[in-house]
Amino acid sequence: MGRGVIVPIYLFALIAIAVCAWGFCLRIRIYRLGRPIDRLDRMPRRICMMLKGILSQKKVLRESCAGSLHALFFWGFGLLSIGTLMIMVQADLIDPLFHFRFLEGGFYRLFSLLLDIAGGVAIVMLGGLLVRRFFIKPAGLETVRDDYLIHTLLFAILITGFLVEGARMASTEIGIDPGLARFSPIGLGVGRIFLPLSPDRLSLVHKILWWLHFFLSMGFICALPFTRLRHICTIPANYLLTDLGPKGAIASIDLEDEGISQYGAARVSDLSWKDILDTDACTSCKRCQDQCPAWKTGKPLSPMEVIRQIGETAFGNNVEGLTAKIGEDVIWSCTTCGACQEICPADIEHVNKIIDMRRNLILMEGKFPDNAVRTAFGNLEANANPFGLAHAGRGGWAEGLDISIMAIDADVEVLYFVGCYASFDRRNREVARSFVKICNAAGVRVGILGKEEKCCGEPARKLGNEYLYLMMARQNIEVIKGYGVKRIVTTCPHCLNTLGRDYRELGMDIPVEHHTTFIAGLLSGARLKLEPAPFAFTYHDSCYLGRYMDIIAAPRQVMRQAGGRLNEMAKSGYGSFCCGAGGGRILAEETLGSRINGARVDMARETGSPLLVSNCPFCLTMFEDGIKTGGCERELAVKDLAEIVAERIKAG
Ligand code: SF4
Ligand code: SF4
Repeated sequence: MGRGVIVPIYLFALIAIAVCAWGFCLRIRIYRLGRPIDRLDRMPRRICMMLKGILSQKKVLRESCAGSLHALFFWGFGLLSIGTLMIMVQADLIDPLFHFRFLEGGFYRLFSLLLDIAGGVAIVMLGGLLVRRFFIKPAGLETVRDDYLIHTLLFAILITGFLVEGARMASTEIGIDPGLARFSPIGLGVGRIFLPLSPDRLSLVHKILWWLHFFLSMGFICALPFTRLRHICTIPANYLLTDLGPKGAIASIDLEDEGISQYGAARVSDLSWKDILDTDACTSCKRCQDQCPAWKTGKPLSPMEVIRQIGETAFGNNVEGLTAKIGEDVIWSCTTCGACQEICPADIEHVNKIIDMRRNLILMEGKFPDNAVRTAFGNLEANANPFGLAHAGRGGWAEGLDISIMAIDADVEVLYFVGCYASFDRRNREVARSFVKICNAAGVRVGILGKEEKCCGEPARKLGNEYLYLMMARQNIEVIKGYGVKRIVTTCPHCLNTLGRDYRELGMDIPVEHHTTFIAGLLSGARLKLEPAPFAFTYHDSCYLGRYMDIIAAPRQVMRQAGGRLNEMAKSGYGSFCCGAGGGRILAEETLGSRINGARVDMARETGSPLLVSNCPFCLTMFEDGIKTGGCERELAVKDLAEIVAERIKAG
């Protein structure tokens, strides 16, 4: 192209950038309707994480088929865009001003080859994505007007790009430097189509194609903020502004602040600005919905829909109440398992939004999922356990065992925070006894709080009852700190998260460990010795130990040391499927859809293993129930990891 067109080209480009910037400014105005939170701290770390996430496409690649297509398209299209910018910088800036050309010789040959391959890959991958969306049509994948526009625009840009290259090569490289032309194999193939044209016609065709390609590219820039294409900008922003706190941490409410008139989220403006940005980063890929145990078992909750509905409210009238838009049943159905967040390629935070809406229902509107939860909350207030059993009997399970009650003897190595289920539930008391047996065999002096221990408050908190949680938490912290405890072990992943992470915000900073890693430590330090006995088993990664605490390998290692042969379930590790009890659902009736515990028991049965090993009192309770109601007691048994270890302690 002649130099006379440079001014109009850059003028058009500036106009396109201005339209794009204006579109995003309009959206930023909507984000700012949300309440403030600080996500601008530790910027160097945030920038590194963002670049790593975007360039590696790690989160996108978690889904093998569509993820690979998208990642390869991204890399191909990205390289093409960078290459085009480099050509512009050389042609319009560095060469005219400094008479220097860096796209020369061997480097230019390599550059041409790389760009040609990148363009080819981008076209093929885009074709794959198009076939998937418009012909295979995976269930639940919603196709809207934007998808037609985006696919057409991207195809048109890529194809006109090769046509421009072909027309240019037909009048230059193919005749003048065939050696160089071979480094653009696709361009060479396209260029041969133009060879029969006369030089004048070729020049005209080249000009027309060039301007077409240019205006399509400018259209792409203009369309960014106004279509789903905006995820190209909002996902990197989401990576940059991600929550750097511990996984699953929930923002506390200061219930004593008289200036606060609204607890939880009734409207979009009660959510944070990041929550609104999240809705703009969602690509409706439905991965979260596919992983959601509530959705899988026929409940009305789809995490993707929740995000979409919050977005519709924010960018729509913004006065509609969130509960009216989303639905109470949807809000109560969540088990806070975190599977949606784990799989989301856009780093969207679903769980906090749901808990914020629950807080509004419980604390502002006095609503409960059902009467069972209302009763359990009453029991927690009166007896500090959800069962309504007398508080004084909390340490009764330990009678006759070699264990200290802290009020009598606080000279212990570790405090065992027992939790409500291991304290009162008959089946879970066996786990607590097994754990004490292990400590005794390893020579660990262990103590319990007995009747001084209260529920950790986690189920109440996840259901939105921050008031009850704070009541329990403050009492526990006061007692634990009073004994000068140095180390805490718990057999419950929910207690582990709450004491180890949530209580920090309230001033308790004592290391808290789960019994799986604690036992793994005793075994590796040779304080505990086992007599391995061979057995086949399948293992359930509880959400709050695996996904939330990243403890995946240690329990498997302990089971191997006990002689276990593991048959993994289809969903395991970070992709594990919830038992149905998280998010306070252990206290509620499950009346919608089919039972989540039943679905998980079926997955365990499919492995053919006679034993399901778990690590959580909620999971154990749910699986005992699922096995009984599924009528498969002869086929499958469930045990806690501590029970298996205790059975194999080496005598003496
Ligand atoms: S946390 Fe679990 S149950 Fe809740 S929406 Fe996400 S995947 Fe579904
Ligand atoms: S929330 Fe995340 S996983 Fe779910 S549809 Fe949106 S982008 Fe996909």
